[in-house]
Amino acid sequence: MREDYQAVWDRCLRLIKKQVSAQSYKTWFEPIVPKKLANSTLTIQVPSQFFYEWLEEHYLMLLRQVIDQELGPQGKLEYSIIVDKGNSPQNPMTVQLPGQHHTAKHQKSEERPLQNPFALKSLQDTQVISVLNPHYTFDNFIEGDYNRLAKSAAQAVAKKPGGTSFNPLMIYGGIGLGKTHVIQALGNELKRNFPDKFILYVSSEQFTAQFIEALRNNSIQDFSHFYLQADLLMIDDVQFLAGKEKTQEIFFHIFNHLHQAGKQIVMTSDCPPRELKGLQERLLSRFKWGLTADLQQPDLETRTAIIHSKMAADGMQLPDELAQYVAYSVDTNIRELEGVLISLIAHASLNKQEISLSLAQQVLKNIVQDIAVEVNLDYIQKAVASHYHVSLEQLKSKSRKRELVTARQVGMYLAKRHTNHSLKSIGQYFGGRDHSTVIYALQTVNDLLDIDQPFRSSFEDLQQKIKFSRNHSRKA
Ligand code: ADP
Ligand code: MG
Repeated sequence: MREDYQAVWDRCLRLIKKQVSAQSYKTWFEPIVPKKLANSTLTIQVPSQFFYEWLEEHYLMLLRQVIDQELGPQGKLEYSIIVDKGNSPQNPMTVQLPGQHHTAKHQKSEERPLQNPFALKSLQDTQVISVLNPHYTFDNFIEGDYNRLAKSAAQAVAKKPGGTSFNPLMIYGGIGLGKTHVIQALGNELKRNFPDKFILYVSSEQFTAQFIEALRNNSIQDFSHFYLQADLLMIDDVQFLAGKEKTQEIFFHIFNHLHQAGKQIVMTSDCPPRELKGLQERLLSRFKWGLTADLQQPDLETRTAIIHSKMAADGMQLPDELAQYVAYSVDTNIRELEGVLISLIAHASLNKQEISLSLAQQVLKNIVQDIAVEVNLDYIQKAVASHYHVSLEQLKSKSRKRELVTARQVGMYLAKRHTNHSLKSIGQYFGGRDHSTVIYALQTVNDLLDIDQPFRSSFEDLQQKIKFSRNHSRKA
């Protein structure tokens, strides 16, 4: 019955041809080879897993319809997939499909195939912008515990794009923590190592805008062709693809092709992949193939080192104590830290004065508005006292008992963090201590937070209470 399946498939093809563009037909249907027909099940062979997924995603309804027409409602379709080029094509893996009987009304509008996905019109400029900022390098990307994995993975990729298990490389973290910096450094380094490689860097917003433009101009073919040439494709802030189904589809397609061809893909996101809402599951599952590295909050030492490095780049020096003070005060992210430094420099040069502690205090007051004004020292002391089951008197006393010292140090730390009081005034308030005692307390608490897990969780509870009161009083 050899002709049977060939004949059935030929008739299917004739129906399909009427319904899709010539280009789509050529791309997605001509490569299919019919293999077998048994028990109303037609088996077709497709060149890859990706190909199969594309068919399912875009042409399921159409295939269902032609199978219905040729084999009746009992008809089923089965795919036989040739595993990736490199592997033995002689042993195709067969995927059994249940052959669910979808009907047109079940089809949600978003699932409808792209119209003429690769219709080729005139060759338009794809207007792809791919600019790497040469100032983002590994050299000036200060390393700390919080970013070590991300940095070393990026360095490894720059040496061997597509040749490590970090493909794709996904870097996530909150804003201003260095995602763009580290991947651009990767790009710059790779360019130095391999001048001939084609590097593409885009934000996911640019990518989306280009895609929409290509849709409008009927130049999707050129659009994907352009991206498929990349040796290194970097998509910054993929979270913005959320909910953009069509853009995700084309990205999925580009992703698969590049990955199969051993090309390197690098992405960033502001949250871990599993929390990327509005991204299709199949896309998320791809992200997990490689390495996901996160950027946490930088610790105090790293922030201080970053301050020194930025100032040095501007030909300036800050006394260590001052750098530490700024580092203590700005613990949100590095972009904010840079903002503070720029203001500091500006103020100092405008007023023709040295950068001093009082100048820093003044600048920080204007900039870091988030360092609350609503929480006062009284409130913090009460919260600390009740959290550690000590009295206010004890907290302010001269006693050096272990529990008291800890509570006092935590109180000073929280005061520094959540109020605008100077080190000196905090010291005064905690039993007339001097400013170096407060610095020592900040350092101690910071160290404990790093190494002592029970201490940290107790501290976080306490801080939560204080923050709550702050938000609360803000709304009021
Ligand atoms: P994100 O992309 O995560 O929002 P960026 O990469 O834009 O953050 O970083 C914000 C700013 O902080 C940039 O100017 C960057 O150069 C700087 N920066 C971030 N991390 C570091 C670091 N580890 N060392 C030096 N500068 C950094
Ligand atoms: Mg960024």
